[in-house]
Amino acid sequence: RFITFEGIDGSGKSTQARLLADDLGAQGTDVLLTREPGGSPGAEEIRSLLLTGDPDRWSAQTEILLFTAARRDHMEKTVLPALAAGRTVISDRFADSTRVYQGATRGDLRTLVDRLHDLMIGREADLTFVIDMDAATALRRGLARSSGEDRFEDMGLAFQQALRDGFLSLAQAATDRCIVIDGDRDPAVVAADIRSHL
Ligand code: C5P
Repeated sequence: RFITFEGIDGSGKSTQARLLADDLGAQGTDVLLTREPGGSPGAEEIRSLLLTGDPDRWSAQTEILLFTAARRDHMEKTVLPALAAGRTVISDRFADSTRVYQGATRGDLRTLVDRLHDLMIGREADLTFVIDMDAATALRRGLARSSGEDRFEDMGLAFQQALRDGFLSLAQAATDRCIVIDGDRDPAVVAADIRSHL
């Protein structure tokens, strides 16, 4: 089973991915917790290429290619072998992040994102939790713990709002796979809600 967590920065998705992995692990499920961009040695190297440097280091198109290359490596080296071994894989971000961050918010690049996904990745998660959160609250949380080294951070409230809308409309278009979770609650309450959906 391949489960992904999606949402804007500061939504609590990383915490929730970890809580679910811990919870399932404690019940004897063989769980692999991983993340994107990253999750394999090569993809982690691509992650640092993506997240560091000048804001205009990459064109939007090159950025999509790098995210896709990182995802391809993550799938080949980490996700698919674990699924083949019968493990449950939980990923903090996956393809929906690219659809929303690169596809929906930076011009009309969604077609490119979708075509690259079909060509190079070719599969979806079995289940996706979209952790929804008020954009201003999430922005405050995200910036509060920011190292300042991530060139994608601090893009402003309007951008966060556009991302939130992007995740919500994506979830509406894929109700067979996506469950929207209200992330604006105590983390333990959110975790119990997620658990009840499994
Ligand atoms: O989720 P995480 O904090 O690890 O993501 C790292 C950064 O990359 C975040 O600032 C996120 O907004 C950005 N990102 C992105 N496009 C993606 C995935 C992540 O801009 N497809």
